Amino acid sequence: MGIIRNLVTNLTVIRQTSIRNHQKIIMSRRLHARRTDGVDKNVWVEFTQLAADYKAVNLGQGFPDFSPPKFVQEAFCKAVCGGPLMHQYTRAFGHPRLVKNLAKFFGRIVGREIDPLEDVLVTVGAYQALFCAFQALVDEGDEVIIVEPFFDCYQPMVQMVGGKAVYVPLRPKAEGSAILSSGDWVLSAEELASKFTPRTKAIVINTPNNPLGKVYKTEELQMIADLCIKHDVLCISDEVYEWLTYDGAKHVKIASLPGMWERTITVGSGGKTFSATGWKVGWAISSGHIIKHMKTIHQNSVYHCATAAQEAVAEGFEREYELFGTPESYFQQLPAMLHHKRKKLASCLESVGLQPIMPEGGYFMITDISPVKVDFKDQSTEDEPNDIKFVKWLTKEKGLATIPVSAFYSPEHSKEFDKYIRFCFVKEDSTLDAAEDILRKWSHGQ
Ligand code: PMP
Ligand code: GLN
Repeated sequence: MGIIRNLVTNLTVIRQTSIRNHQKIIMSRRLHARRTDGVDKNVWVEFTQLAADYKAVNLGQGFPDFSPPKFVQEAFCKAVCGGPLMHQYTRAFGHPRLVKNLAKFFGRIVGREIDPLEDVLVTVGAYQALFCAFQALVDEGDEVIIVEPFFDCYQPMVQMVGGKAVYVPLRPKAEGSAILSSGDWVLSAEELASKFTPRTKAIVINTPNNPLGKVYKTEELQMIADLCIKHDVLCISDEVYEWLTYDGAKHVKIASLPGMWERTITVGSGGKTFSATGWKVGWAISSGHIIKHMKTIHQNSVYHCATAAQEAVAEGFEREYELFGTPESYFQQLPAMLHHKRKKLASCLESVGLQPIMPEGGYFMITDISPVKVDFKDQSTEDEPNDIKFVKWLTKEKGLATIPVSAFYSPEHSKEFDKYIRFCFVKEDSTLDAAEDILRKWSHGQ
């Protein structure tokens, strides 16, 4: 017995020493850079894993669970079988056929000539376009204004270049009254103006917005543009959902307003445009004098993104250029399809007593969960914002995955907005039906 006890004691000591050494290694400044501190948590990593672990019906992460349209799938297959060069490096800043088509397509939208070689940078998804923008344009100590709620990666990207994020929230128009549309969430012109200082380098906007679905009106964009021009500030405009607007809302590019082309970086996503998020083709479009600096970051980091995927996206844009504005255009068909899915999700939420905030655009719908009383048994989540507790509970106990909206707020404001959760409706009707089934059973106490 004595020998066994000694052995157990020795093993325990070895284990504790090894844990201490491991902790020392983790904390050692020699083995990591400080820029990774405080940005290690990621809502997509955490909640996508949770959905998978519990095999939940997934209305969480924003991706279509249906196939991209046939024409881009065929274009991809054609590219992959298109000979040796389709499998090799292409031009660093964008495959020639893609930059040519992006310039042609968006030139028509913004009403100016876009130089495919100077004014366009193709990136690994919109993520990398944003990353290159912050790396290339923001210096240590610079302030970047971010409108809340915001797509979560803006803040860590600003922090990683040593910039300071300065937040300004969209607020529901009339506190207390029923907020029915994302259009009821507005920026206060005075509050926004008060955030500009001599250190402000850029503002980031996202229209249509993730997670709220707000589509900025021309007057709102003009107010932002006036401040950018007055203070000589850049505008990073994330427009990955630009084709997805509903009920007559119209997407306007801030880059098309007078005096804004020279200071706006417009970010787009082939993944969102053609329902192929896994392809990771994105772009930044701006004046060549800005793109030049983003190219420097790009060529020294990823160099370029997959040739065949760029070829397929190029072919998609070629087709869309010809069909633009017609019922055959995917840019008409996708929003038409999503319009129905959005309605379906909204009626499902209403039927179980949840009030949706109708998005004017995008993939997502948020709803206020404060009327719902749930007894969270899991004590380990005590300090977390209420929406996070709720989403974990809904995923684990009911098998329905969603996303907590506090993840789209700064730590300073997340508690103030922790009564909303986000549902994604770019899903098969069968997925939406499965979600409805869960919500109905739950509302009937099953
Ligand atoms: N911006 C917003 C607002 C998003 O929702 C996303 C997620 N798709 C991205 C950027 C990143 O897009 P991508 O998948 O093309 O990198
Ligand atoms: N943009 C997607 C969303 O908002 C997800 C992005 C990601 O998974 N990193 O759901």
